[in-house]
This record gives sequence, C-alpha cells and structure tokens, in this order.
Amino acid sequence: MEPQGSPWMNEELALLRESVARFADAEMVPKDAEWRARHSVGAGIWQRAGEQGFLCTDIPAEYGGGGGDFRHEAVVYEELNRRGLSGFGQGVHSIAAHYLLNHGTAEQRASLLPRLARGELIGAIAFTEPGAGSDLKGIRTRAELGGDHYVVNGSKIFISNGQLAGLIVLAVRTDPAPGSKGLSLLLVETTGLAGFKVGRVLDKMGMHAQDTAELFFEDVRIPRSRLLGGVPGQGMYQLMSDLPYERAIIGVAGVAAMEGALAATIDYVKQRQAFGQPVFEFQNSRFRLAELATQVRVARTFIDRCIERVVRGELDTVTASMAKWWITDLQQQVLDGCVQLHGGYGYMNEYLVCRMFADSRVQRIYGGTNEIMKELIARSL
Ligand SMILES: Cc1cc2nc3c(=O)[nH]c(=O)nc-3n(C[C@H](O)[C@H](O)[C@H](O)COP(=O)(O)OP(=O)(O)OC[C@H]3O[C@@H](n4cnc5c(N)ncnc54)[C@H](O)[C@@H]3O)c2cc1C
Repeated sequence: MEPQGSPWMNEELALLRESVARFADAEMVPKDAEWRARHSVGAGIWQRAGEQGFLCTDIPAEYGGGGGDFRHEAVVYEELNRRGLSGFGQGVHSIAAHYLLNHGTAEQRASLLPRLARGELIGAIAFTEPGAGSDLKGIRTRAELGGDHYVVNGSKIFISNGQLAGLIVLAVRTDPAPGSKGLSLLLVETTGLAGFKVGRVLDKMGMHAQDTAELFFEDVRIPRSRLLGGVPGQGMYQLMSDLPYERAIIGVAGVAAMEGALAATIDYVKQRQAFGQPVFEFQNSRFRLAELATQVRVARTFIDRCIERVVRGELDTVTASMAKWWITDLQQQVLDGCVQLHGGYGYMNEYLVCRMFADSRVQRIYGGTNEIMKELIARSL
C-alpha cells in the first residue's frame, strides 16, 4: 500500500526523507539488534546524525540548527519509527532543544544549541521522580541558592537518554513551599559533574535500545547562570507551554510505527502460505487489513493536521492531548492486529512487528498518561 501523501510534504522534504531513509537503512537498522542487546545506541551515532544535519532540524540556523520547521522533524521521526528504531531518543533531544529555544537566555541558547545540533551534547528532560510522575507538583528535588550556584539534591527516574545525556533539562524545586510556583528548570551539563550519578539502564518491557535510567544528585553545584530563562519559579509555565510540541512528537511516532508495521504485515501475509494459499487470500486477513489500513489512514489525516498546526504555532493543548491519547491507544490495537496476522512469528523479536508491539506500550504512559490527556480534554468541555 502506498503511504498517503501528506499535504505538508514538498520536494525539499522529500529529499530530506530520502537521505534520512538511506542513513537509517545503512547506519541504524543493521545495528539495532546490537543496540538492543547492550541497551544503548552509543554516542557515535548521535554525532553521525549531527554531521548529516538530522538533529535539531527545526532550530534556527543561527544556533546551528537546520533552520527548518516541525515538518522537517516529522520526516526524521517518521523514517526512524517506521523502522522501529526506538532506541535513538531524538524526540527528547529535540524537546530539550526547544526548552532552550523558547525560554533560554541569549547566552544559554548560543552556548548550548549548536552543540545539541552537532550531536556533541545529547539532550534529556528529567521531570519524573519516584514520588512524582503525573502529578509534577510533587517534585522534591531541591535546588538551594548559595552565592552564584544552586546546590541540587534529589533523584529522577525513567529518564530517556539518561546514560548518554550530556545536557539535562532538570526540574527542581527552587522554593520549598508546596505547589507549582517553586518549580524551575536547570540546564545541567553532566560531563565531570561532581555529585552526579547515573544508575543502571532500567530493565523495560520494550524499547531495549533506549538507555532509560535513574539519575542521582548529591550536593551537585550548578551555576546560577544555568537557570533556564534566568528567573526562578517559571518551571511549570515553561513545561506546560512546551507540552503540545512533545505530544505532537509522540503522535507522529505512533502513526509512523503503525504505517511501518502495516506495510511489513502486508508483505508478510502475501508470501506466507497456509492451506495452499497466501495468508493474504483468507477473507479474514483481507478484512482485518482493510480495517487496519483505514484506521491508520484516519490517524495519518489527524496527525497531518496537527503537524501543520505546530508549524503555524497553533497546536493547542486540547488538540495535542487528543492526538496523544487517541493515536497511542490506536497504535496498540493496530500493532496487536499486525502481530496476530504474523502468527507465531509475530511473537518473535526477530520480526519488526514484535519489537514494535512491545516498544509501543509505553506510548500510552509517557509524555503524560492517556488518562491525564483525557482530564485535560474534559476540562475544556
Ligand atoms: C520508558 C519510559 C521513558 C520515560 N521517559 C521520561 C523522560 O525522559 N523524562 C521524564 O521526566 N519522565 C519520563 N518517563 C516518565 C513518565 O512520563 C511517567 O511514568 C508518567 O508521566 C506517569 O507517571 P508515573 O509513572 O509516576 O505514574 P503515576 O502518576 O503514579 O500514575 C499511575 C496511574 O494512575 C493514573 N493517574 C494518575 N493521576 C491521575 C488522575 N488525575 N486521573 C486519572 N488517572 C490518574 C495514571 O494515568 C496511571 O494509570 C518515562 C517513562 C517510561 C516508562
């Protein structure tokens, strides 16, 4: 099945898509099994992606980025996610870059964004704590001002790119009073940072190539100049204003995974024989595939609209929340259908649909759980 042409694609983006696809096929897909076995993609591939201009594609060229917009990012996510390359945490890297772009001081942007774009620094965003996930107001990691440094104590859990990250956008409490007003974001460079420790890569259901980790801070000194935006107490506002971007990325990744899985399933059932004919020829297979293709097409139409809205700076929280929960719920259903059509092979990690099925489960949990998305939507009704 030909993918539906997205209305936002053009010739320049088609060329980018071709080069990302070539890069992914040559330098990522052949290594995915090794990455999954060692639970990390390693730093080298980040630098290679940076050299090719595939990082920070929607960051202005004056900061070393690609000077494009969210369509360029979407093209990269689509090519990676159609291939099930879930270990390369480009989404959180870009989200970290956007915190800097949208809220950083001129000095913070100029000193950090070019290094993120080159893949010299790998970005992470660290909000979640053992006692604070959905309810971020419960964050306890403390940053106390002493002279021109903050002294940070606390820990974070489930942090994507946690082991490789050279730059962490860290949510801390700069005011001990409860609630969201005392929250701030610190820009933490990790190399040689005294008192900072990364735990082991967490043992997950899927996304085995992702170096998701716990982070520990014990009397870590961070210069005051690394408070994002320079004004304390802005953390919750900064975080809320960037969430639609993050949720759009999750939606784009979800639709691309469904498209990749569906294409692989159609190929598979056309060559797999049972009862003297290709599995594709059974009416059940044809009807299931017709249903899946329709569901994926509807999701594509919705996410294309969201992508256009991000480009125009118009993706609101409610629409982004709708895209996040609905697409990721659908993603699980569609991938389940693809696994079923593969029979026993669909349960084998060697097959793309198996890896995608396990990888996709977390899409309904991170970036704000789907239940929280529904809360946000309901509040607007
Ligand atoms: C693989 C992976 C990668 C991650 N990457 C990152 C990362 O890079 N950075 C980061 O900061 N975090 C990351 N997270 C954390 C993720 O964002 C949180 O796990 C998520 O927000 C949920 O928080 P929690 O796990 O504490 O669950 P809880 O908040 O304890 O939720 C438990 C259940 O209660 C439900 N619930 C909670 N509140 C409500 C409510 N008001 N109404 C209805 N239901 C509710 C939830 O929906 C959920 O079903 C990652 C998690 C995973 C698993």
